[in-house]
Amino acid sequence: MSRRELDRAMLSVVVPVYDEEEALPELEKRLAGAVEGLGFDRLEFLLVSDGSRDGSEEIIRAMVARDPRYKGVFLSRNFGHQAAIGTGLGMARGSVVAIIDGDLQDPPEAIAALIETLDRGADVAYGVRTRRKESLPARMAYASFYRVLRAVSAIEIPLDSGDFCCMRRPVVDAMLALPEQRRFLRGLRAWVGFRQVGVPYERAARHAGAPKYTLRKLVALAYDGLFSFSSLPIRVMQLAGFVLSALAIGIAIFYIIWSFLAPERFPSGFASLIVSIWFFAGVQLLCLGIVGEYVVRTCDESRGRPQAIIREVVAQSVERGGEGEPGRIESARMDHHA
Ligand code: UDP
Ligand code: MG
Repeated sequence: MSRRELDRAMLSVVVPVYDEEEALPELEKRLAGAVEGLGFDRLEFLLVSDGSRDGSEEIIRAMVARDPRYKGVFLSRNFGHQAAIGTGLGMARGSVVAIIDGDLQDPPEAIAALIETLDRGADVAYGVRTRRKESLPARMAYASFYRVLRAVSAIEIPLDSGDFCCMRRPVVDAMLALPEQRRFLRGLRAWVGFRQVGVPYERAARHAGAPKYTLRKLVALAYDGLFSFSSLPIRVMQLAGFVLSALAIGIAIFYIIWSFLAPERFPSGFASLIVSIWFFAGVQLLCLGIVGEYVVRTCDESRGRPQAIIREVVAQSVERGGEGEPGRIESARMDHHA
């Protein structure tokens, strides 16, 4: 890995906050201290309140009044964790941006290790949970979700990695340039590429309060992850349809042989009924799967993800200004001229 100097002009820390009044004072105590020694010229803490209904926003106002490095961004209602982070990412001005949960499950002290990884040349350093302090069924559910997602997704989404990470500016710009609305950020982060390095860390227990992710929100997140990065369900449908119709043909052959070998014991009317039910169920599934292929393609197009992202252009002279800027999106349309 090449040793590219990390631009230390400014570190932005994006913190999604939804009803975290019990955790915020502790966060204030630990966050600044954890990043002050990392050598950045300026610091910025963006607390994005995702429609908090408790005292969180008042606490954030007080934090901003005490320390100008804090900024509060209050969303008009609860839009969800991913939307809150996305909004914060869009407002962050740092040359390096960190994302950290507001409930102190991601220890602010671990940011130092992420920055160190960027120093060693990574563009994205993401936290990989070594030990979770949740209940066993919850841990098993998370673990299986990540494994299923990895197995089915078209891109490499690292196991057991959440949103906790530090990214260089070009990566942030590339993520922000993606126009899709339903954002599964850790998937998009993996999708944009660059040099990504996982950094193990121990995920703490929630500092205070109850988890703000309800089962419904978690299932919605899992769906976004699955359906935004995989068309496997449709492929399964096609395969099922194919297998079913093939089986129907097999059964038909079986019945034909049976009716020849033992015509006196062969029930009349039964065979054609069963075979046609199986066959047409299969054909219908197969057709649905074919329609699904078009839906998948429409979906891919409507997400508007660019065909590629340029990390760097190496040339003796680069004529057109701005070209080859890291993180620049090379759109499919522009490519037609090339
Ligand atoms: N959060 C949010 N909006 C939501 C749900 C959660 O901004 O709708 C925030 C929450 O305040 C916390 C972080 O996202 O800082 C992670 O949420 P939580 O701790 O409930 O998730 P978990 O750690 O269980 O994955
Ligand atoms: Mg949490």
